[in-house]
Amino acid sequence: MKPNEIELNTLLRGNRIALEHYTEDEIGNDHLYTGIDTPLRTDAFELSDEEKIKRIKEHFKGIMLTLGLDLNDDSLKGTPDRVAKMYVQEIFSGLNPANKPKIALFENKYKYQNMLVEKDITFYSNCEHHFVPIIGKAHVAYCSNGQVIGLSKLNRIVQYFAKRPQVQERMTMQIATELQQVLSTQDVAVVIEAQHLCVSSRGVQDNSASTITSYYGGSFNQESRKQEFLTYIRTSTTLP
Ligand SMILES: [Zn+2]
Repeated sequence: MKPNEIELNTLLRGNRIALEHYTEDEIGNDHLYTGIDTPLRTDAFELSDEEKIKRIKEHFKGIMLTLGLDLNDDSLKGTPDRVAKMYVQEIFSGLNPANKPKIALFENKYKYQNMLVEKDITFYSNCEHHFVPIIGKAHVAYCSNGQVIGLSKLNRIVQYFAKRPQVQERMTMQIATELQQVLSTQDVAVVIEAQHLCVSSRGVQDNSASTITSYYGGSFNQESRKQEFLTYIRTSTTLP
């Protein structure tokens, strides 16, 4: 078993990494995280979406009032409702397993044996430590184990895991393990490059830094296959 598979399997068994030796500031600023699963409460989906929107609206109103904003102003009065709907229905909709894309597989009738790469999948996520955007591109690849997946579904799986409060390493592994399960193969690779607005717009305010994370499963750990994948994603497309 490859080292990254051992690490992943340990995480998958639900062994959360304790961060008790770090301060809350260190955890946020260094973007440490506790495991591959998004930390959810056991009662995460007991409330309906409508009830969540109602509650978040009130909480957000409280934040705005505390900041001293006048919610009687025509421009501001609809903001708590807009933010609440945006959180539940859009940017954090990937927390709810009910929103997971339904995946249909097709038989690999043409016996295509090589890797399939879907690159430059643009995504918008949010940092779970600061709740500001992460903007990036995901590149995913797999080698068919007899079944193939619709191309748009690769995109949808990326978007589903992006629409959560996230940490880039976790998002990379969540996409990879989902693809491995869906496609019944270890032969999956995921590379994500992203800009974290909590690094560029605040904190150290570095505009040019980007973060790259990767996962190579099964045959993608062979150097030649890994290099083939990296060559494809490095090649800029000449398509319109
Ligand atoms: Zn952050």
